[in-house]
Amino acid sequence: MVMKPSNKSEYFDVIIIGGGPAGSVLGAKLAESGLVVLLLERHPFPRYHIGESLTGLVGNFLREIGLTEEMEKLQFPVKSGMSFIGPNNKSDVFIATESPTWQVRRAEFDQLLLDYAVSKGLNLRHGSVKKIFRDGHKVIGVGYKPSFSNTDLLEHIRCKFIVDASGHGAVLSRNRIAGRRRVDTLWQQLAVFTQFQGAVRDDGEMGNNNIVFYSEPNHWAWFIPTSPTEVSVGVVVPQVVAQKYGETAEDFLQWGIKNISTDLARRLSEAQMTGPVRLLNNYSYRIEPFVGESWLCVGDSHRFLDPVLSLGVSNAITEATFASKAIITAFHTGDFIKPLQEYAAFSNHGYSIASDLIRYFWNFLTTFGRQARSGLRNDIIHLLDGYSFEENELTVLTAMHSTLAKFLPANLPSEDAQSIAGRIKHAYTPGLEAAYIELTSENKLKLSLVLNNDDPNFQEAVSDFTETLYADFGRDNLLIYRFIATDALPSFENAYDILNLAKSQLNK
Ligand code: FAD
Repeated sequence: MVMKPSNKSEYFDVIIIGGGPAGSVLGAKLAESGLVVLLLERHPFPRYHIGESLTGLVGNFLREIGLTEEMEKLQFPVKSGMSFIGPNNKSDVFIATESPTWQVRRAEFDQLLLDYAVSKGLNLRHGSVKKIFRDGHKVIGVGYKPSFSNTDLLEHIRCKFIVDASGHGAVLSRNRIAGRRRVDTLWQQLAVFTQFQGAVRDDGEMGNNNIVFYSEPNHWAWFIPTSPTEVSVGVVVPQVVAQKYGETAEDFLQWGIKNISTDLARRLSEAQMTGPVRLLNNYSYRIEPFVGESWLCVGDSHRFLDPVLSLGVSNAITEATFASKAIITAFHTGDFIKPLQEYAAFSNHGYSIASDLIRYFWNFLTTFGRQARSGLRNDIIHLLDGYSFEENELTVLTAMHSTLAKFLPANLPSEDAQSIAGRIKHAYTPGLEAAYIELTSENKLKLSLVLNNDDPNFQEAVSDFTETLYADFGRDNLLIYRFIATDALPSFENAYDILNLAKSQLNK
């Protein structure tokens, strides 16, 4: 069905949904270029947001756009690095930033960036986008409910291009413009967090740095100083683990503080909790496709990774900067395909390296710590500073990929991961990278599929299945998910036949 706003409605070149770091940075750059841009933000600002530790890349960006003085006025602690403290307070590693940066209270930081964008000519309105209008495969406008409005009536606005910067709101995905959200099986976690006053910080300037405490892979807590007196504290563990410890978010937070690290417990023993305890579930995902002829997604609206290395705001700002160039080129040349495809490739490259870095961190904590103290130190600093989107082939990445490739879960045949990946790499159809079939000792067929994200129909076809991660080959986009065990070994024409059989077995 064709859905159009009325011809009488207002018109903008670009509508941006969401006023977090991604939306504000993109909005500032587009408005500066002369495009007429409207940003719609659903919450009145300032509003609370999680994500307080910034990278060196963000520090450089803020200096470039001239916000140093404002950052100083807000008394944000100046960050010179982050520490990782392992079980029993051992394996302590401090990784300095290449460039100084800040820890922030996001309510004020996001307000600062949004005000900056408005000063560059961005039009801002507060309201929640509820509807996307299309004409054929193009998007041509939005319907939004203005904040403080007494009626449910939507305001309609037309435009040539829409940017989704709505963070976890993922408005274009929910409206079936962008692809569906796939929760990342690697990181199905739960986070609880709040603020404390009176916590014990390190002496001098080191007291401004953040600390990641971890007890075992994927069990960690953060300690981020966000003002001269306040720290943000959060506990993150796999969801299955969290369910065992406490009925409320506060119980679980207290459990984490006591059990993840005695040093964290010591730092908070006399501190006062000053904020509500908040909880976030299931928060790593990807959305594909995230670019079309008249729209694109930036930041958390299409991709979110385990936040252990504090890369979220940095990645959002890097993407927004590249996306702004792509959109400006598209408007100038009339080519709304190539520049946007280049943006998608840029984004996939950067997120793939960031995601490998996180996977490497969790699977090889000891090696990571040793390399962070060795000749690879500068490469690790560079990546942690937010530069995973660069084209450089850093030495640490070669070392990282070769270590990951040798890593195998216990239940796979005793070949190294890369040779298994090579053996199974046989493309059946778009969307399926490979199928891997085994006969079990009970003469049952086990089917494992290696998925890529290029075919939305394929993603739809597997939407009824509960995926179980079976093997991680240490590369973004090369994971084996196990769906099913069947009785017979049929011959398959293509991946859809395999799936149909799998579905019929599941429904028995
Ligand atoms: P957001 O900052 O989420 O902004 C999206 C905006 O869109 C919001 O203001 C929202 O109100 C608005 N919006 C949503 N829906 C609509 C709608 N329908 N209409 C209008 N507006 C809408 N990152 C770091 O850099 N450092 C950290 O230390 C860090 N720690 C984290 C810890 C946890 C537990 C989590 C979950 C995240 C953490 N992050 C961290 C990640 C960081 O919070 C995000 O990556 C970052 O905020 C992404 O910016 P964004 O602009 O894409 O989205």
